[in-house]
Amino acid sequence: MVKVPTKLVTWDEIVEWSMGLAEVIKSSGFRPDVVVAVSRGGYIPARLVCDFMLVDNLISIQSQHWTEAAKVAEKALIKYPYKVDLSGQRALLVDDIVDTGDTLILARDFILSEWKPKELKIAALQWISPVAKIKPDFYYIEVKDWMWFQYPWTRHEDTVQFIKRALSEEGKSKKVWSFEEIRNVFIEYYGIDVGEVYFKLALKSLVDLGFLKEEGGKYFIKV
Ligand code: AMP
Repeated sequence: MVKVPTKLVTWDEIVEWSMGLAEVIKSSGFRPDVVVAVSRGGYIPARLVCDFMLVDNLISIQSQHWTEAAKVAEKALIKYPYKVDLSGQRALLVDDIVDTGDTLILARDFILSEWKPKELKIAALQWISPVAKIKPDFYYIEVKDWMWFQYPWTRHEDTVQFIKRALSEEGKSKKVWSFEEIRNVFIEYYGIDVGEVYFKLALKSLVDLGFLKEEGGKYFIKV
């Protein structure tokens, strides 16, 4: 049974969704002078929205939401709080997905108070309506049941984390694994197949990180 509902998103879907999002924005009559990508997830959607809306100006802001080691306190922060003068400009803040909405709220508040645009609107490819604290001005897909969207730009990072999580759980009773066994447990946990190239790359990274040891085609969980 799948433990974490996950959808593998393709590059073609990203292009289609970004084109759809640009159409939603255009039909509202809003014409941004500058697009602000929320780093890191909003980079590619923001670049595509610029393309489909023929916007030349693209900058970014890194708003990050992180959980402290003990997992008690969650914090969001603007990583590089540089100053940009957006006075007199209509700005469009673009992200991939609004889940809790915390990173976007932080970015929006920072831009309004520090960069002072004439107008600021928010766009996201996806909006998880039951859990999000804010509704973006523009979105392409409303998600009604929470799931993890495995976007193509985090495929390696997610695969590494996913394998680590599944093996940390299963590794309590089994320390030695074959490639096929790891692949099967991955599909069982997440219900998606990232393909052999990404899978091999992730296992290599987990060996480099010291989480796994490889010997004679078998993988040993070290920690
Ligand atoms: P949040 O502050 O919870 O709205 O989300 C911050 C960022 O985490 C998003 O911009 C995404 O890059 C990533 N993220 C959060 N939830 C998801 C999800 N369900 N699927 C994929 N990425 C997500």
